[in-house]
Amino acid sequence: MNAIEGVVISGTGGIWNVRAADGEVHDASMRGRLKQDGAPLKLAVGDRVTVERDGPGGSWAIMAIHPRHGTLARRAPGGGRGERIVAANVDQVLVCFAAAKPEPHLRMLDRFLVIAEGNDLAARIVFNKVDLVGGAAALDALAAPYEKAGYIVHRTSVKQEVGLKELHDGLAGRTTALSGPSGVGKSSLLNALFPGLDLRTAEISASVNKGRHTTVGALLVPIPDALGGFVVDTPGLREIGMWGLPASSLDQCFPEFKTFLGECRFQDCDHMTEPGCAVRAALERGDVSASRYESYLKLLLELRDLPEEWQ
Ligand code: GDP
Ligand code: ZN
Repeated sequence: MNAIEGVVISGTGGIWNVRAADGEVHDASMRGRLKQDGAPLKLAVGDRVTVERDGPGGSWAIMAIHPRHGTLARRAPGGGRGERIVAANVDQVLVCFAAAKPEPHLRMLDRFLVIAEGNDLAARIVFNKVDLVGGAAALDALAAPYEKAGYIVHRTSVKQEVGLKELHDGLAGRTTALSGPSGVGKSSLLNALFPGLDLRTAEISASVNKGRHTTVGALLVPIPDALGGFVVDTPGLREIGMWGLPASSLDQCFPEFKTFLGECRFQDCDHMTEPGCAVRAALERGDVSASRYESYLKLLLELRDLPEEWQ
């Protein structure tokens, strides 16, 4: 029996593709039921596992799942039980938008950041196609609220090769969940940063992999770089959504609000209408951006609209 370690990069119909350190991918299935703290453990892409072979030429079986860090999960209504792990061992979320063409949809951007915060994942932002924006001032105005909130903001152009080195260094060696609407240049960027990494090709080959099954859910695309790392191609953060995030915790998902939260007159202030609200005071002073505050209000109303048992 030879046991090796690997990373689950995709899964279809009970067969999991486990990538070993040498880059080889083995088809493996679960042997029996793995448990953690007495509860059955569901495997997810990103999981680090030990696989064992049934002798030479035999089939591979998953024997153990290693402890996880940084999970991207779709939390079930009502809290922890039934949570579905979309990807395990995620280091960060990369939120991609174009600086122009299409215009960045800031409400959507803020929603993605909230989902990252709700999952306790670090996030960085890309504004691509900066070649289409005249002057640095407009770009700085776009990035400022996010930089103030503590996010790393990359300004890139695939066309003019701007900001590519910094983004490369932010991704190599890490596992990054990629998000952003189509048409903003995600595939162009990844191809420019890591020649040979092609999201769509990777997705097609994985779904064709075992014939009948189509890949649903996330997929890990290995980064062809000396440092390694993976890009998690998720079905889209929007689908992962904010389920299970209590409306009362939404303010915690706006990092720039945090310093003010303890200063509101009422401890359970929703920063909407209560008197003595420190977040609104910060908004009036310009310490919290109007656009970010608008996103907060919109998401708050949305969360409150969910059926009670979902909060
Ligand atoms: P995706 O859907 O997010 O993967 O976007 P694509 O990578 O397919 O790019 C969408 C379009 O934007 C393509 O026509 C690209 O050529 C173009 N594009 C990508 N990056 C840039 C850029 O930095 N500047 C400009 N002007 N166009 C870009
Ligand atoms: Zn308040």
